[in-house]
Amino acid sequence: MNFNIDADKQITYDAIVIGSGISGGWAAKELCEKGLKTLVLERGKMVEHQKDYPTAMKGVWEFDHRLKDIPAEVEKNPIVNRCYAYSDATKHFFVKDDQHPYIQEKPFDWIRGYQVGGKSLLWARQTQRWSQYEFEAPARDGFAVDWPIRYKDIAPWYTHVERFAGISGNKDGIKNLPDGDFLPAWELNCVEKHIKESVKKNYQNRQVIIGRCAHLTKPNDIHIQQGRGQCQARSLCERGCPYGGYFSSNSSTLPWAAKTGNLTIRPNSVVHSIIYDEKSQKASGVRVIDTDSKEVIEYKAKIIFVNAAALNTNLILLNSTSNRFPNGIGNDNDLMGHYLAFHLYRGQGGATFEGYADQYYYGRRPTSAFMPSFRNVYKQETDFQRGYMVAFSAGRGSWQEGYGKEGFGSDWKESLTEPSDQWGVYIQMQGETMPKKENHVRLSKDKVDAWGVPQLIMSVDYDENDIKMIKDFHVQAAEMLEKSGCKNINMFDSKQAPGLDIHEMGGVRMGKDPKTSLLNEWNQLHFCKNVFVTDGACMTSVGNQNPSLTFMALTARATNHAVEELKKKNL
Ligand SMILES: Cc1cc2nc3c(=O)[nH]c(=O)nc-3n(C[C@H](O)[C@H](O)[C@H](O)COP(=O)(O)OP(=O)(O)OC[C@H]3O[C@@H](n4cnc5c(N)ncnc54)[C@H](O)[C@@H]3O)c2cc1C
Ligand code: SF4
Repeated sequence: MNFNIDADKQITYDAIVIGSGISGGWAAKELCEKGLKTLVLERGKMVEHQKDYPTAMKGVWEFDHRLKDIPAEVEKNPIVNRCYAYSDATKHFFVKDDQHPYIQEKPFDWIRGYQVGGKSLLWARQTQRWSQYEFEAPARDGFAVDWPIRYKDIAPWYTHVERFAGISGNKDGIKNLPDGDFLPAWELNCVEKHIKESVKKNYQNRQVIIGRCAHLTKPNDIHIQQGRGQCQARSLCERGCPYGGYFSSNSSTLPWAAKTGNLTIRPNSVVHSIIYDEKSQKASGVRVIDTDSKEVIEYKAKIIFVNAAALNTNLILLNSTSNRFPNGIGNDNDLMGHYLAFHLYRGQGGATFEGYADQYYYGRRPTSAFMPSFRNVYKQETDFQRGYMVAFSAGRGSWQEGYGKEGFGSDWKESLTEPSDQWGVYIQMQGETMPKKENHVRLSKDKVDAWGVPQLIMSVDYDENDIKMIKDFHVQAAEMLEKSGCKNINMFDSKQAPGLDIHEMGGVRMGKDPKTSLLNEWNQLHFCKNVFVTDGACMTSVGNQNPSLTFMALTARATNHAVEELKKKNL
C-alpha cells in the first residue's frame, strides 16, 4: 500500500475552529497560545484589520447617497435593511437577503456577517457578565433545564477575557450584574445623571449605570501589545476601527493567534458538515466547500470547535449525519435545533426633556445608560417570568441631523454647527425570552443554498410571557421618565420579528442530563466529546444581559479543558 503521508499532513491539524467571529476568534487565540496547530475555517472573505475597512475614514458627504436609504436597495434586501447598523458605510460586512436564503415558517430577521471576524466587526460592544441569578433561573423558575455550571465556574474566565478584550465600566456593586475587570468608564451626561438621581430617589433596587462596553478608554500594556489604541469616541465602529478602539476578532484575537505561528486561516471555506469516524467513535474532521472552486475538501483534527454563530452551528451539526448519528452529530435525543430563545427588544419609547440647554457632552460616546434587571430577580413578583434590562440615552438633536436639514447659505451652515435646544431621551428594553421546544430550526428537505447545503427553516415566535413583559416595561419606563420630569413620553411596540435582536441562542443547549441536553458542562457534545460548541447555540437560557461576553468566557474555559483532556489523552 502507498500512503501519501505528506498530503495527509497538509490537511491535518491539532484543532479546527469553524467560524472566525467573536467566539471563533477566542477559540483560535486560546488554542494557538496553548501550542495547538489550529485551522480556522471561515465561509466569508478575508478582512484584515485596518487594510480592509474601506469606509472607516469617510465623511457622510463622500457617500453617493449621503448614507440615506436607497429605495431599490431596501426593496431588494428588506431584512438586512431593518438592522440599525446597516448602511452604505457598512453594507460590505452584512449578508444580503438575496444571496443567502433561508425559510421563514414564522417571520425571522436573520442578520449575519459572513467574513473573517464575523459579526465582531458589527456588534454594539455592550458587555455585561451574567450573575448567579441567570445560571440558577431555569432550576428556580422551572423552565428549560438546569445549567450544568454556576457563576463561580465562569467568573475567572470572565476576568480572563475582559482583561484581554478591554472592557470599560464602573464597579457598581450590583448583585445581579457582577463587576468585572474594567478600564475607566464612559460618563453619563447631565440629563442621564438627572434621571439616575430620580430613579434612585423614587425606587428601591433600581440603579442607573453607564453601559459597560468593549472599548479601550485607557489601553493597558496587553492592548498596546495587540497594536490597539485608545478609542476616539467617533462611534463609527461598525465600519471597522483602524485604531482598534473596540474589540473585534480582526483587531485582537486573530492577529494574536497568528503571532504564535500556530494559526492557519482559510477564508472562502463553507463548512458543510463534521465527519464522524465510526471506528474511533470520534469526529475526525470537517468537510468544506471552497467558495471559489466549489471543490469539496476534507480537513482532519483531534478536536473541533463549532463557532459558526448559533443558527449556523445548529445547521452544520444537523447536517453532519452518519450511520451512528442519522439526525445530526450528537443528536441522540432529537432535541438539536429546539429550545431556541432570543432577546426581547419590542418595548421602546421616546421623550423630551426641558432644561440643561447650556450643557453638552464630549464626542460620540459609544455606549448608553443601562438599568440592570429589576423584575423577578430575587423572587417571582410579576405575572410574567424573568426580567429585562433597560437601556436609555439622552442627547441633544445633534449636528448629524443637520445633514438632512434643508436650506442654503451662511445662516444654514451656521445652524449646522449648533445642536438643537431640546434634549431627547430614547429608551428600550432587553428582555429574557423562555426557551421552548416549539421554537426551533430544522433543515429543509428540498431547498439548498448555492453550495448544496440545506437551507434552514426558522420556526420561532413570541409568546404570552413576552407580551406581558413588554406591557410591564411600557408602564415602568413611562413612570420612571415621568418621575424624572420628562415630557411627551411616547412608548411603543416595534413589533419587530425575532432575529432582529441579533442575540439568537440555543438549539444545542448545555445540561446535566444527556437525555435532555446536547452538551456537557465543558461544552462537549455528550455523545461525541471531541466536538465543542461554545457560541450562542450552547445557551440553556438567555438571561437579559448582552450575550457575547459570556460566549467568549465559555469559549476560553472550554479550550482550556480541551487542551487538558488532550494532554491526558482523553480526546
Ligand atoms: C448590529 C449588531 C449589534 C450587536 N450588539 C451586540 C452587543 O452590544 N453586545 C453583544 O453581546 N452582542 C451584540 N451583537 C451580537 C454579537 O455580534 C454576536 O453575539 C456575536 O458576534 C456572536 O459570536 P459568534 O462567534 O457566535 O458569531 P459571529 O461573530 O457571527 O461569527 C460566526 C462566523 O462563522 C462563520 N460561519 C458561519 N457558517 C459557517 C460555515 N458553514 N462555514 C464556515 N464559517 C461559517 C460566519 O461567516 C462568521 O464569520 C450584535 C450584533 C450585531 C450585528
Ligand atoms: S468610537 Fe472608538 S472604537 Fe468606535 S470607531 Fe471610534 S475610535 Fe474606533
